[in-house]
Amino acid sequence: MMKYAIQSRNDKLSNQLMDEAMDYLNGFGLVQDREEPDIVLSIGGDGTLLHAFHKYSYRLKETAFVGIHTGHLGFYADWKPSELEKLVISIARKEYDVIEYPLLDVTINYREKKESSLYLALNESSVKSPEVTLVMDVELNHNHFERFRGDGLVMSTPSGSTAYSKALGGAVVHPSLPSMQLTEMASINNRVFRTVGSPLILPAHHKCVLKPVKGPDFMVTIDHLQLLHKDVKSIEYKVSEERVRFARFRPFPFWRRVKDSFIDKNE
Ligand code: NAD
Repeated sequence: MMKYAIQSRNDKLSNQLMDEAMDYLNGFGLVQDREEPDIVLSIGGDGTLLHAFHKYSYRLKETAFVGIHTGHLGFYADWKPSELEKLVISIARKEYDVIEYPLLDVTINYREKKESSLYLALNESSVKSPEVTLVMDVELNHNHFERFRGDGLVMSTPSGSTAYSKALGGAVVHPSLPSMQLTEMASINNRVFRTVGSPLILPAHHKCVLKPVKGPDFMVTIDHLQLLHKDVKSIEYKVSEERVRFARFRPFPFWRRVKDSFIDKNE
């Protein structure tokens, strides 16, 4: 028997849709299971799906996600509220494919503390200094690449390339490419200080390590989560071996979504 869970943005429309979806799904004999769902319906926006992803990141191999947008068209939340009935019938009949997108592994090591912090990002991880200019040595595959000075650095997944990374001039990367992209935030570039200045796209099995030069405390974001990490020795990024699974009920090519979101919705 198929088990489902629903994550709502918790506004009036999203909660109303959640109740409707539950009625439909229960009517089709599906069972609500908030701990071990086979499918998670996110109702709200992309941010709601990011929350759902982190809530169920302990069972990514077993759970598939699908998003309904109650605001504007999202990248993860691409179903309209008016399509709810159609969607529920397809879920009940298991008429969907599963597509997988790459994720980002983030490891934060500390100078004194032995245990590292491990995170998985669906969109990106950003690093900023809490007060001063961020100064970090950037290592690629154990070789020193550059000394970055500026506002911050962002490492994004392919599906996160249309989010924060895009606002920083990053390339839009198709999610079928297991890769990660490093973008700069306002780097200082003059005759004394130099960074590459372009976004870098790294393939799977490559490693990017950031090592503090000045000040050991950093604001690190993992998608919507922001935390101050103290006494940091290094921050490591690599393409994760884990992947997120989305339930696909109809073709909605990535480039079509890019066009509908950023260019126009006309043919
Ligand atoms: P939120 O849910 O309000 O999201 C902010 C905006 O980002 C929304 O319009 C959302 O639709 C969009 N978005 C999220 N993921 C996307 C994706 N993969 N592709 C295209 N658009 C996407 O806010 P939140 O819950 O705090 O979400 C955190 C996300 O906000 C972060 O992962 C980051 O990508 C994004 N963000 C963007 C900027 C920026 O564009 N300057 C700055 C900070 C954070």
